[in-house]
Amino acid sequence: MNIQELDKKYVLPTYARQDVEFVSGKNARLVDVNGKKYIDFTSGIGVTSVGHANERVNNAICEQLSNITHISNLYYIASQAKAAQKLVAASGMDMQCFFGNSGAEANEGAIKIARKHGEINGEIKKYKIITLQHSFHGRTITTVKATGQEAMHNYFGPFPDGFVYADNMQQIESLLDDHTCAVMIELVQGEGGVEPQDIAQVKALEKLLKDRGVLLIVDEVQTGGFRTGKFLASNVYSIKPDIVTLAKGIGGGVPIGVVMTSLKDVLTAGDHGSTFGGNYLSTSATCEVLDILNELSSSGELENTIDYFHTKLDILFENNKDIFIKKVGVGLMCGLRVKDADILSAILESAKKNGVMLLKAGRNTLRFLPALTITKEEIDEGFTSLNHAISSI
Ligand code: PLP
Repeated sequence: MNIQELDKKYVLPTYARQDVEFVSGKNARLVDVNGKKYIDFTSGIGVTSVGHANERVNNAICEQLSNITHISNLYYIASQAKAAQKLVAASGMDMQCFFGNSGAEANEGAIKIARKHGEINGEIKKYKIITLQHSFHGRTITTVKATGQEAMHNYFGPFPDGFVYADNMQQIESLLDDHTCAVMIELVQGEGGVEPQDIAQVKALEKLLKDRGVLLIVDEVQTGGFRTGKFLASNVYSIKPDIVTLAKGIGGGVPIGVVMTSLKDVLTAGDHGSTFGGNYLSTSATCEVLDILNELSSSGELENTIDYFHTKLDILFENNKDIFIKKVGVGLMCGLRVKDADILSAILESAKKNGVMLLKAGRNTLRFLPALTITKEEIDEGFTSLNHAISSI
């Protein structure tokens, strides 16, 4: 049996797999099983932030694994404490961290903190959490319900109570009541279509929630880890949320999820936990990833890469206004809104044939999430292939 047959026979069909199998990669380059080469504008959906097969991360992991991989959270874990220190320093906020294994798990942790905070502070139990339409917060039962997309709520019920959906940022105020403990938003909706929130509205929301004693949770699973140019999109928007969640890019390919919060004494021993969360494997990788990304940012290299990428994206947009409606996104989380969902499917297919991998977001957005370490040569090659792909459909 070849790999595709093996997969079809033994793996549950929860993913609409594309007909390609990658066997190796280096930075923003990929090679498939037939030896065909590609430029990767996806970074595993925003995960391989420092590129494929990053030597520094691989060395850090190997060095750690030759000593100890896992010991459980019953004991001190040096790389976990160091990763927490680096995350807090990078955020510029006075916070502490809890480590899990995925974005959904980080959001579960955030919801637990918000709900316990809402239960132990004040006379009325506060448990409601307002989220936005078109949001995406994960695939567990609770985070599926937190996700404001009706289609995601088919089957799987009954769900936990208390999630309320706002059509947009302006509607949130009218949905607040005495039982609301938190509002959870993405500052740039990723799966929803690479849609950035308006800065003035976000700042107004931060103030409103402070005044009303309601917590602000920012889901930075996709935006965090310098994806939008600064360590957090919250830094770009100059806000200080009560809770921030992270995953994806801060592990560089190793599964990790983090809840960061300024509410340091809400959860106490026994309230929350994870067997694998924060173990030596994931946190030694995260320490190295954060060091690389900090260097990339402080040297100005990341800003140059973002500028260069956007120049290319602008040219592509200007030359193809018959296909694209507008450019969207922030930093290296960007996209082009396509006039028609069928054209988008054709572009993605043709791009793959022409050796450049891209993503779809929402119904009709061509999404770019390249490694933050992508080089000018890789960007040039990717856009050349994409131009060919578009002109050949
Ligand atoms: N939150 C956001 C904003 C995401 O983009 C995602 C995944 O795409 C998640 C949560 C869920 O993360 P995970 O798949 O690691 O559970």
